[in-house]
Amino acid sequence: NLILSFETSCDETSVAVIENGEKILSNIVATQIKSHQRFGGVVPEVASRHHIEQITGCINDALKQANVTYDELTAVAVTYGPGLVGALLIGVTAAKAVAWAHQLPLIPVNHLAGHIYAARLVKPILFPAMALVVSGGHTELVYMPEENRFEIIGETRDDAAGEAYDKIGRVLGINYPAGKQVDEMAHQGHDTFNFPRAMDQDDNFDFSFSGLKSAFINTVHHADQIHEQLNKQDLAASFQQAVVDVLADKTVRALHDYPVKQLILGGGVAANQGLRSRLEHEIQAFPQTTLMLVPLSLCGDNAAMIGAAGEMLYRHRVFADASLNADPGLEFDWLGESVSN
Ligand code: ATP
Ligand code: MG
Ligand code: FE
Repeated sequence: NLILSFETSCDETSVAVIENGEKILSNIVATQIKSHQRFGGVVPEVASRHHIEQITGCINDALKQANVTYDELTAVAVTYGPGLVGALLIGVTAAKAVAWAHQLPLIPVNHLAGHIYAARLVKPILFPAMALVVSGGHTELVYMPEENRFEIIGETRDDAAGEAYDKIGRVLGINYPAGKQVDEMAHQGHDTFNFPRAMDQDDNFDFSFSGLKSAFINTVHHADQIHEQLNKQDLAASFQQAVVDVLADKTVRALHDYPVKQLILGGGVAANQGLRSRLEHEIQAFPQTTLMLVPLSLCGDNAAMIGAAGEMLYRHRVFADASLNADPGLEFDWLGESVSN
C-alpha cells in the first residue's frame, strides 16, 4: 500500500510517500529554523504562516519524487497532536482536503508514535518493545506490550531533554535549536562541573531537567559576575554527561522491570552521540534485547515516520472522518481508538 503522510506539528513542513509502512519513496522536509532563530525559539504564528506557504509545494514534490499519482494512493496519514495548534491545523486541513478530494481513508497519527515508528523504516519492530522518546517537547519511557499499545511508564516532571539543551545552549551563545552543537562541544570537553542528576536514584521512571538547567545557568551567571571565564566545552560535556546519565540509568531500570525484545531510541535528541553510544554500551547487559537507534536522518520531525505509524494504524483500521481536529495536548496513553469529535 501507499500512504501519503503529513507532519506540521512544529517548525518543519513535511510530506512523504511510504510504501507498506517500511519503505520511503519520498520524504520532503521544509524547515523553518532560519525564520525562528532570531527569536530564540519557535514563534507559533510564524510557524503557521510558513506551513501554509510550504504545504502545497511539499505535497507536489513528495508525489513527484515518489513517482506516484493521487489515484495510486491507499490512504492519507496526518499528525493531529501533540504540537502547536495553528501549525497542526495546516497539516490536518491539507490531509482532510486530499482525503476528501480523492476518496481516501484518513489516518490520525500521534506525533510521538511517529518518533517511535521511525524505527519501522529500518526494520520491523519486535514486541514487547520499550521506547525512549526524547525530543524538544517530550521525554518519555514508553512500554509497548504489542503493536498499537503505548503505555507511558515514565516521563519528565518539568522540562523536556531537548528543551534543556536549547535553553543552556542559549547561555553558551548557540543559536536555536542548540542540541546538535552542544553535543559536538561536549565531545571536546570533560565532566568537570558535576551537575546534579535529579531523580536518578528514585525508584520510578520519571525525569526532571529543570534543576540541571538552573544549576548550569547559575554557574555561568556566577562566573560572569566575578569575571571568570569558564571552559565552554567542559560546561557542555558536564551538562551532557548529567543528561545522558539519568536517561540511561532510568532506561536500564525500565529494562530490568519490563523485559523486552527491542529498545527503540527516537525523537530529536535521539541524534545525540553521547546518548547513542551510552545505550549501545548499556544494552550489552541485556542479551535478549536489541537496540534500535533511529537513524540520524529520521530523528528530527519528518512525515516519513508519520507514514510508518499511519500504516500500522491502517492495518488496525484506525480512521478519522472529516471532523478530525488538531489536538495540541494529545496524550500518549493512547490505544489507537478511532478519532472523531
Ligand atoms: P516533540 O517531538 O516533543 O513534539 P519537537 O518535535 O519540537 O518536539 P524534535 O524536532 O523531535 O522536537 O527534536 C528537536 C530537539 O532535538 C531540539 O530540542 C534539539 O535541540 C534537539 N536535538 C537535535 N539534535 C540533538 C543532539 N545531537 N543532541 C541533543 N539534542 C539534540
Ligand atoms: Mg522541530
Ligand atoms: Fe518531534
